[in-house]
Amino acid sequence: MAIVGSGPSAFYAAEELLTRRDVDVDVSMFERLPVAGGLVRFGVAPDHQTTKAVERVFSRTARRNGFRAFLGVEIGRDISVDELLDHHHAVIYASGASDDRKLGIPGEDLPGSFAAREFVAWYNGHPDSAGRTFDLSGRRAVVIGNGNVALDVARILACDPDRLVPGDIAEHALDALRRSTIEEVVVLGRRGPEHAAFTTPELIALGALQEVEVSVHGGYDASDDAPIKLRTLADYARRSPRPGRRKITLRFHEAPVEILGDSHVQGIRIASTRMDGSEQDLEASMVLRSVGYRGAPVPGLPFDSQRGTVPNVAGRVVDPVDERPVPGVYVAGWIKRGPTGVIGTNRYCAAETVDALVADHQHALLPQPSRPGDELAEVVHSRCPDSFGFDGWKRIDRYERVEGRRRGRARQKLVEVGAMLAVARGTENDQYLPQ
Ligand SMILES: Cc1cc2nc3c(=O)[nH]c(=O)nc-3n(C[C@H](O)[C@H](O)[C@H](O)COP(=O)(O)OP(=O)(O)OC[C@H]3O[C@@H](n4cnc5c(N)ncnc54)[C@H](O)[C@@H]3O)c2cc1C
Repeated sequence: MAIVGSGPSAFYAAEELLTRRDVDVDVSMFERLPVAGGLVRFGVAPDHQTTKAVERVFSRTARRNGFRAFLGVEIGRDISVDELLDHHHAVIYASGASDDRKLGIPGEDLPGSFAAREFVAWYNGHPDSAGRTFDLSGRRAVVIGNGNVALDVARILACDPDRLVPGDIAEHALDALRRSTIEEVVVLGRRGPEHAAFTTPELIALGALQEVEVSVHGGYDASDDAPIKLRTLADYARRSPRPGRRKITLRFHEAPVEILGDSHVQGIRIASTRMDGSEQDLEASMVLRSVGYRGAPVPGLPFDSQRGTVPNVAGRVVDPVDERPVPGVYVAGWIKRGPTGVIGTNRYCAAETVDALVADHQHALLPQPSRPGDELAEVVHSRCPDSFGFDGWKRIDRYERVEGRRRGRARQKLVEVGAMLAVARGTENDQYLPQ
């Protein structure tokens, strides 16, 4: 079997396949980056280290007999979808969501307006964001959206950067946040608090930041028997102002109408989503659109551009025209069901996919590979000479942890691909490595 991706759904699918008693399989995992983990490394906030501990579960899977990995190999670019299936009985695509939903309002593409995904990738040291900069020299940033990602970016922007040191935030982001002059982060939700998608622990984490004043614009009250999330908001609304601190202001029932500015974001026009629809302009130097990640197509694989997912029934990829299953091709995780759910959700999602795959195997519905699996390793090494296996990733992992420990941090992330390759190959004295 081949699995594309190395995020939670890929590893949960591998674990399920390698531990089932009713099948005896080998699993080859293909990841386009030189590092494994998907959004556990590049999405989960750098100050949420307990969440990132799930990487240990993934490493255990990687040590199982029958597992091998190819890091630095992009399916659909280096190896085609058809080629991959030619060498395997089945392929599970667990390629996640690497794109963003759009707002569809004027000014969305102005410099200073970003998808939250880009900002998250930057502070988490994604190699695609290496060398990027975010200008944090303004006074106000506006985050559009009301999910946990919106609260993550608001917290990272507003908190004392020293809080982030023990985690694994990328060094360049820590430096930029130390120089930041942002005084207020506004979080904008088009619906009311009772519909906000963020979870209670994320909301409570905001209020726990002593150095930040969290408030609810226009006030808010909740009855004693209201859900804890609403009572927490009411508590924030009652707090007396604490001048001199950075602010996070939660605004509800307001939708963005236009991002304002000539050559750079200067503000945002918002409209009340209540009856009167009144509009207001807010000055801002940065807008982060946190309205959802979105799957990206893999060339050669069916794709539903409306939903941003691969069309499937319980994990079996189906032809978008006749809706019949494409033999041997499956999906798991965010590319299967869209960008919802926590890490653990992907376990059930991957198990459902593997159930479908095993049932198809038992009914002799899987195609016979037309070429030997081992031959693909030679093709990979000739086309992607910089690719390496899981041992290379473990070397990077160890290096980052040791370097982190020296600095009192969970991990000192490598960001440049060149530096990652140097460590994976065991040439740590390489010029690419940060000193
Ligand atoms: C900002 C953010 C914060 C989050 N915080 C939390 C949290 O605190 N707790 C929690 O439980 N959940 C959190 N989540 C949710 C969690 O990260 C997701 O549920 C989970 O990562 C989805 O897993 P996945 O395997 O489907 O996709 P991903 O994790 O995105 O993995 C997909 C992998 O596929 C690779 N890939 C893509 N295309 C190809 C290709 N063509 N060839 C080879 N490889 C490819 C990608 O590089 C990536 O490594 C967060 C999500 C985000 C966005």
